[in-house]
Amino acid sequence: MTTDQHMDTTAGAAGRAYIERTGLFGHVIDGKVGPSADGTTMPVIDPATGAQIATAAKGSAVDVDRAVTSARAAFDDGRWRCLAPLEKENRLRRLAQLIDRDRTVFGDLDAFDAGLLRSYTVFLEDFAVNATNYFSGWPSKLQGTVPPVPAGFSAQHWREPVGVVGIVVPWNGPTAVIGFVAAALAAGNSVVLKPAENTPMSAVLMGELVAEAGIPDGVFNVVQGHGRDVGAALVEHRDVSLVSFTGSVETGRIIAASAAKGPKPVSLELGGKSPFIVFADADLDAAAAAAAAGVWSGQGQICTAGSRVLVDRSIHDEFVSKVITASESLSVGSPFDPATDLGPLVSSTQLERVSGYVEIGRAEGASVALEGGRVGDSGFFHSPVIFTGVRNDMRIAQEEIFGPVMSVLPFDGEAEAVRIANDVEFGLAAGVFTSDVGRSQRLAQKLRAGTVWINTYQMGYPTVSYGGVKNSGFGRTLGEEMVHELTTIKSVWTAYPTESPD
Ligand code: NAD
Repeated sequence: MTTDQHMDTTAGAAGRAYIERTGLFGHVIDGKVGPSADGTTMPVIDPATGAQIATAAKGSAVDVDRAVTSARAAFDDGRWRCLAPLEKENRLRRLAQLIDRDRTVFGDLDAFDAGLLRSYTVFLEDFAVNATNYFSGWPSKLQGTVPPVPAGFSAQHWREPVGVVGIVVPWNGPTAVIGFVAAALAAGNSVVLKPAENTPMSAVLMGELVAEAGIPDGVFNVVQGHGRDVGAALVEHRDVSLVSFTGSVETGRIIAASAAKGPKPVSLELGGKSPFIVFADADLDAAAAAAAAGVWSGQGQICTAGSRVLVDRSIHDEFVSKVITASESLSVGSPFDPATDLGPLVSSTQLERVSGYVEIGRAEGASVALEGGRVGDSGFFHSPVIFTGVRNDMRIAQEEIFGPVMSVLPFDGEAEAVRIANDVEFGLAAGVFTSDVGRSQRLAQKLRAGTVWINTYQMGYPTVSYGGVKNSGFGRTLGEEMVHELTTIKSVWTAYPTESPD
């Protein structure tokens, strides 16, 4: 690889132009992009170079209060909530078109602040457009029900928006977050978004496009800054009605405890350590390609990374050799180079974390089947590592590394595969590769995970709900379940005389 990243200064030109034009990546409050109340800023670091590429506002509880007040006022006066359902749909569809129009800028911004490959950000842009289109159809379909009640009364269940939704997100898919925002807006809510401190840029463009789509000022707000101040203040704010959190288990615990003080509902999309299970009867070439993609894409910084690869002992060596072949010549380099397979990790902290786990794996006695490590001395690059001979009680089998590290564990028979797969604190996703239909269905039933993929991995679509069990969280994003979770039911009773007065 070349470590002198972005030597080609035309790479990411649309993103560079946007960065230059924007200047400060500020908060979006009441339709205006602006600085923190106290003027504090924070640097935006390009992980491919380690250098500052932009400056963002660094918010505080004061900015959170300004944003929530704006969102609450917008909700209370009904400027969006009370708009006719089909008009809400028109504007959300327009938003999807605008995201599509500006997809190059979104992709460049995600590559510059998260280090995501431009070939990968295309999926995020597609997801943002598709999810916004999908949710744009919901305002006219959010129906209540009329339950049966005794004579002399009528009762209705009205399905209503919850109010102000606080959305707190990580850095590994900044543009994809638009899908969550679109769901909350489709349900009639106002939103305050807190992007991750590493990736503040795309949220500002989001704010501009929301305004251009005709969604009224104050309905969508953004507060930039760190989790411990801005994130915590948003979760605690008394006018935030529901918190939608995506991030680590550690932070999820803090947020759930804080939301409990409200109390207010919270959905938690947390981490994972997903088993990728390969049986001897599987198409091994397809499984090896999927296993490699399942942990190297996004540099392994994907919550559903299939980082625990469980392989039938009878095909272990053959399968591992196929995965090594699919992985050993991957190129590590600039997110903008179409030939790059792995870009940088998001930050120096993440690089240290990954390097630390590689050392832990060695110390625990696992064998290094594919040697990898830090690449270059500028930027935060790390090449893929495959450990074999991993026992399920090792930390590299149990803990989320969130980087390009695969742990391979052998198993003997279906029952042992299920036992090892479930013997972990997480339950976000699982993959099963087998040609036996019965086996695939038995495993789908027995695996404790929010999503089970059979003969595929990391497939997603906005119509299909997504979320975890066990320590991977609760609540569902995407699909009908997400819209319902973003609404509440009001029961309206009316008494009437059963006899006519005439
Ligand atoms: P993180 O938990 O450190 O941060 C996530 C967000 O929470 C950031 O915006 C951060 O500023 C904020 N935050 C931190 N402390 C907070 C606090 N006390 N109160 C309120 N907000 C706070 O996670 P990360 O390192 O940014 O992201 C990686 C994690 O996210 C991984 O564990 C990954 O598995 C998980 N993740 C899960 C999903 C999913 O859908 N399940 C998707 C992507 C990432």
